[in-house]
Amino acid sequence: MPDEMKNRVVLATTNRGKIRELADGLAAHGVEVLNLADFPELGEIEENGATFEENALIKARAVAEATGLVAVADDSGLMVDALGGAPGVFSARYSDDWALLPGENRDKRNMRKLLHAMEKVDDAERECRFVTCMAAVRPDGHELIVKGEWRGRLLREPSGENGFGYDPVFFDPEIGTSAAHLTTGQKNARSHRGKALRALLAGWPAFMGER
Ligand code: IMP
Repeated sequence: MPDEMKNRVVLATTNRGKIRELADGLAAHGVEVLNLADFPELGEIEENGATFEENALIKARAVAEATGLVAVADDSGLMVDALGGAPGVFSARYSDDWALLPGENRDKRNMRKLLHAMEKVDDAERECRFVTCMAAVRPDGHELIVKGEWRGRLLREPSGENGFGYDPVFFDPEIGTSAAHLTTGQKNARSHRGKALRALLAGWPAFMGER
C-alpha cells in the first residue's frame, strides 16, 4: 500500500466523541485522522446488517471503497440475555414504535420500553452486556475486526446522570454502580468501546504492515 494511503485514516462517523477517542489513539501511530464530514459527497450509509460485526464492516468497506483510504467503523449496542440478545443492533431505534412522553427523549423512551419488557424477570435473570465491534478496512481489502464486551445487570429503574443511551439502567456488579455514575475516564477503562479501541490499537501495526 502506498505511504500516503497508510498515513491517512477515515473514521466512518460524524460523532464527535467517537472521533476524539479514535483520533487520540491513532495519532500515537502517526496517522492523520479524517472523518465523514471531510467527505460530504458520501451521504448516509445504510446499516442493515444482522450483527454488530456486519454493520461495522458494511460501513468501513463502503468508506474504504469510496475514498481509497483506510476506513474504521464501529457499531455497538446492548444485549439482554432474557430477551434473546435484544435490543442488539436495534438499540438506538428500539422504542421508535412507542410515543414520546412529554419531556422524554429517545434514550429515556428506550429505557422505559426495556424496563417494561423486563418487568417480570427475576433479579437473577437480568444479565446483559454492552458490545462494540470495530472494523478497519484497507482499500486493498485487508480487514481487521475487533470486539469489546462489558458484562452487567439490568437495573429496575434508571440511576445516575452521566453518559448516554442505556447507561442509567446498566449496573456493573464489579464496582457496584450503574454506568451513569462513572466519569468518562472511568467508563472508558471498563467499557465495551474502550476495550474494542485498545484491541484495535494493539492490532494496528500488524494490520498496516500486512502485504
Ligand atoms: P452506536 O452504534 O455506538 O451508535 O450505538 C447504538 C446504540 O446503542 C446507542 O444509541 C445506545 O442506545 C446504545 N449504546 C451503545 N453504547 C452505549 C453505551 O456506552 N452506553 C449506553 N448505551 C449505549
